[in-house]
Amino acid sequence: MVNLSFLNRFAFVLLVFMLLILSGCSTKFAIQLPSVERLHRQILTIDTHCDTPMRLRQQAFNIGERHEPTSAGGQVDLIRMQEGGLDAMVFAVFIAQGDRTMEGYAKAYALVQETLTAIQTAVAQNANFAEIAYSPRDIKRIVRKGKIAILLGIENGYAIGKDLTLIEKYYKQGIRYITLCHTKNNDICDSSTDTTEHGGLSPFGEAVVREMNRVGMIIDVSHISDSAFYDVVRISRAPVIASHSCARAICGNPRNLDDNMLLALKKNGGVIQINLFTEYVKPSEPNAARDSAMHAFWSKYANFEQLTPSERAIAYQERDSLEKRYPRRLATVEDMTTHIDHVVQTIGIDYLGIGSDFDGGGGLADCYDVSQMKNITATLVKHGYTKSQIARIWGGNFLRVWQKVNRCARRT
Ligand SMILES: [Zn+2]
Repeated sequence: MVNLSFLNRFAFVLLVFMLLILSGCSTKFAIQLPSVERLHRQILTIDTHCDTPMRLRQQAFNIGERHEPTSAGGQVDLIRMQEGGLDAMVFAVFIAQGDRTMEGYAKAYALVQETLTAIQTAVAQNANFAEIAYSPRDIKRIVRKGKIAILLGIENGYAIGKDLTLIEKYYKQGIRYITLCHTKNNDICDSSTDTTEHGGLSPFGEAVVREMNRVGMIIDVSHISDSAFYDVVRISRAPVIASHSCARAICGNPRNLDDNMLLALKKNGGVIQINLFTEYVKPSEPNAARDSAMHAFWSKYANFEQLTPSERAIAYQERDSLEKRYPRRLATVEDMTTHIDHVVQTIGIDYLGIGSDFDGGGGLADCYDVSQMKNITATLVKHGYTKSQIARIWGGNFLRVWQKVNRCARRT
């Protein structure tokens, strides 16, 4: 009996010992498992392009409140940024291409001022959540405090008209990059989606590139024509960014960079910030019913920018019901990651990042708004990227470029 009881006790101790080892192992195993959530929170995440400032010009939109991702709610607010674990975002002051006249330039300048005021007011009203960052060091300081860093850019060099001095003026107002053009040619260069006018950069555009280098303004080559791109990387002494573009080898859209352009970008030391815009990631099949319904909507609301808040609310409702009736087939994060894989295979891990284009057409089926940003990290982990590689994609590469642009400016 004594022997049996001893055996029982021995068996019990052995069992406890084994359980302890097993639980110890499983804890250790759990720590080693790539926890996407933890990894995503540990790295610095920067999105280099959204068009949310257009919403901030509407008094009714409070960026400090949580919205649903409908037309009226948009894809970005500070609450959803926190949910999505996004640390920093470039708010682009979008200026549609208008008349290339003194009157047109004056209007564009006034719109930049109005939009900057709207952003500054929105950030000041939410000072507990967010601050504007003017340097790479600012981003780190703001994020360390648990806040969101808002960076400022301008989408469309039309905002400077023909006045080179505006580059330094905008820099002093906090703008840190300018996208040289949008979907139409301007005085600086040809657009990738317009006819050939200058054959690349105009002589004025060359002066713009030199002045941006001198001032320390980052040059954004998204939207510009291939010839203009090659002119820019030939002239610029500083690395450049494509703030929201994809790889043309994966999706043949003129807005994307082909492999030779990627190689030239690597030589320049710049970055391509992969875009979440379905048309540039993986175009959906033609949908004639949706296209004609949307065409009719935009013809009806051609004056959208001039609508009163109540008229605009009605327009948003109409658009949401159209979206429900004719849903757009969106590309996925997996589709977007094929662009990332291609860029990495072509030029390596150090020359790419993320630029969502939220509130400007960006948004994927499984990353439709800023609250879903960690799905990108999850897919990068699935594709075998390490933590340090993911950190470079999510912001490290962009910060390296920005620091180099600053050093180049100081050398002038
Ligand atoms: Zn754009």
